[in-house]
Amino acid sequence: MNVHRRWVWLLVLAAGIVCGGAAAENFYCRYCGIRRGDIAQLTAGFCSRHPAGPGKGRHAPYEGSEKTQYSCVYCGVKRGDIAQLTAGFCSRHPAGPGKGRHVPYEGSEKTQYSCVYCGVKRGDIAQLTAGYCPRHPAGPGKGRHAPAR
Ligand SMILES: [Zn+2]
Ligand SMILES: [Zn+2]
Ligand SMILES: [Zn+2]
Repeated sequence: MNVHRRWVWLLVLAAGIVCGGAAAENFYCRYCGIRRGDIAQLTAGFCSRHPAGPGKGRHAPYEGSEKTQYSCVYCGVKRGDIAQLTAGFCSRHPAGPGKGRHVPYEGSEKTQYSCVYCGVKRGDIAQLTAGYCPRHPAGPGKGRHAPAR
């Protein structure tokens, strides 16, 4: 009787651990890479790397998948996590060279990346964002190609 009960409790515990593990999700801030268990917790905090200035806005969720390497959407530079990526300033930032931080690309990894404005294709984000876009929303050649998700 006692032995049987012990087994039931072990099963309940094991099931709890497995379900808890499967349900656990990570949400990262796209500006600083901080990790929280849900979006409510994430956006409760103010971000030290917010584009408006340190602490001038809240953490915002990165909406892509978890990856082994994260690429900057503006220049294609790669880092092992979002915190490392967003620590650096971007030479191809839309506000001007070094005027803002790298921002993680939220799309999936691809063998070819297409520009969301004109459809030109390149083998990686660094090559794509090296070129100016004839169909950029700011005007022809007024901004760089941007990778579609
Ligand atoms: Zn943040
Ligand atoms: Zn960059
Ligand atoms: Zn383009």
